[in-house]
Amino acid sequence: MSIAQNLQDTLARIADAAIRCGRDPKDIQLVAVSKRFPATAIEEAIEAGQLLFGENYIQEAAGKIETLGDRCRFHFIGHLQSNKARTAAQLFDVIETVDRPKLARMLNKHLQELGRTMQVLVQVNIGEDEHKSGMAAEETETLLRAIEELEQLEVIGLMTMPPFTDDPEDARPHFRNLRLLAEDLREKGLFGDREKVELSMGMSSDYHIAIEEGATIVRVGTAIFGERY
Ligand SMILES: *Cc1c(COP(=O)(O)O)cnc(C)c1O
Repeated sequence: MSIAQNLQDTLARIADAAIRCGRDPKDIQLVAVSKRFPATAIEEAIEAGQLLFGENYIQEAAGKIETLGDRCRFHFIGHLQSNKARTAAQLFDVIETVDRPKLARMLNKHLQELGRTMQVLVQVNIGEDEHKSGMAAEETETLLRAIEELEQLEVIGLMTMPPFTDDPEDARPHFRNLRLLAEDLREKGLFGDREKVELSMGMSSDYHIAIEEGATIVRVGTAIFGERY
């Protein structure tokens, strides 16, 4: 199957899942996760109409963004080390994985120097998985309050990666909990007057479930580009 065909199938499945639960497919953004695939694969996807991509590794993303950054947008979705924060601030349109106050402060400082602002998501370790990064749910409010003080950062929502299991249904309660957490934080005024709070959740195996639970951003790699080796 070609990338173009896979994309078309994925978008059709996103629309089906949305319509099944009474949502507007337009409210769900597809981030095509291109990690470990070359710039030529991204180009193929661009030619098929996909204009938003996700990358996990700064070094690997740099070349791709240099080549293609003026034709599409990139979200950073990997674990961000503090010593890579400056490059990330330079390269990416959105960072989805802000998961600690120190990283937020460093990004803010670099963005100030670069003279730009950035939309970010806060990564939440909603399943309390010791192998995953992300802020504990009960500490998310504190992180959001700290980021409120940082002028260059605008938090547009929450992101999560539930613990890995074989059954995609296992992810459902985690997706639901992320939505409930976001609603709670919104009621406390932590997303300002934003009309839409983004929920980035769901990957190739479970994005249909994430959409049923309120995802506004799904991050899909394998189903579009194929297996990674
Ligand atoms: C790799 C990755 C994805 C995509 O996973 P697939 O199973 O290939 O769809 C989504 N989100 C994050 C954070 C990832 O690292």
